[in-house]
Amino acid sequence: MSLSNRFEGALMFNPSRLKLARQRLALTLTKLADLSGVSLRSLTNYENGRLAPNDENLLKLARALSVSPGFFDRETSEVIPVEAASFRKLSKTTAARRDAVLANASLAVEFFNIIEARFKLPAADTPSLDKFKPEQAAELVRHRWNLGDRPIANMVHLLESRGVRVAALSHDYTDIDAFCFIRDSKPYVFLNTSRSAERQRFDAAHELGHLALHGEQDMDPSTSKERESEANSFAASFLMPRTAVLSQSMRSASLERILAARSFWKVSAMAMTHRLHELELLSDWQYRSLCVALSEKGYRSSEPGGITPESSQLLRKVMFGSGLKVNVHDAAIDLDLNPGDVRDFVRGLVPVAA
Ligand SMILES: [Zn+2]
Repeated sequence: MSLSNRFEGALMFNPSRLKLARQRLALTLTKLADLSGVSLRSLTNYENGRLAPNDENLLKLARALSVSPGFFDRETSEVIPVEAASFRKLSKTTAARRDAVLANASLAVEFFNIIEARFKLPAADTPSLDKFKPEQAAELVRHRWNLGDRPIANMVHLLESRGVRVAALSHDYTDIDAFCFIRDSKPYVFLNTSRSAERQRFDAAHELGHLALHGEQDMDPSTSKERESEANSFAASFLMPRTAVLSQSMRSASLERILAARSFWKVSAMAMTHRLHELELLSDWQYRSLCVALSEKGYRSSEPGGITPESSQLLRKVMFGSGLKVNVHDAAIDLDLNPGDVRDFVRGLVPVAA
């Protein structure tokens, strides 16, 4: 059935879907009025549910918001509340962008629902360890998942195998960090796939830290500072376990030694240096001079000689496997979105999706 045919069949109008489509693009009502040619007064009435748009205005809105008209005829998709997601405290302008990211995330959840209707995904196995200190919690997760003291081969594969749905943060919002939330008892992690591989691994471990330590908590952004440092501490301990690092004779390590160790643990040189300092294998003075040296060699903004970014095993199988699959175009039609929006959910996690 083509989209225009669908439209000709009488569509219902769900006001919350208009708001979702608008928030997704971080548009104010005024801006949407400009873009669509629908008056601000009408838009306000539509969003409040006082009026429903006629066919002509519905088409204008669909065009301006780059969705199919059927998008407005769908069930309310609960937007992920800010308190449910792990975000750092952000400025006001960034808050609108954060809301856009959350609106997109709720659509990504719909995408995963399409996948789940056809595939059985691993059950969630992220333990709740809010009574523990970050380092202990990291060790407990390693133990529960039988990871021993070895480097984590692939964080994305690991999370997926434990029932975490991993998706990509839209590249329009690269100023926003990775984040996670739990929806219907299923954990979701959104990664910023424009970052270095090492940074993404650390982000993935950081979000796992939130799920383990703060999964049950209200994530009010105004009190995020402590949670952020706990999640960072979890990530460092999870990726570079204390006993294993202590057994590697890293005391007063040279720059070369640190670069070898970061390749072994698949972390950034900066994260490795920070961990050694935290474990008191580097003095304050050694730590500071190494940071300066790394900075001069460009390790603060990038990762020379680093690894290639991880990709998703689950999405590759689901989207490119033989037999039953969820392809970008069909998913876009199912969701009343553009194929480009579906590609954004998985960008950087699978090969360029057709
Ligand atoms: Zn965080």
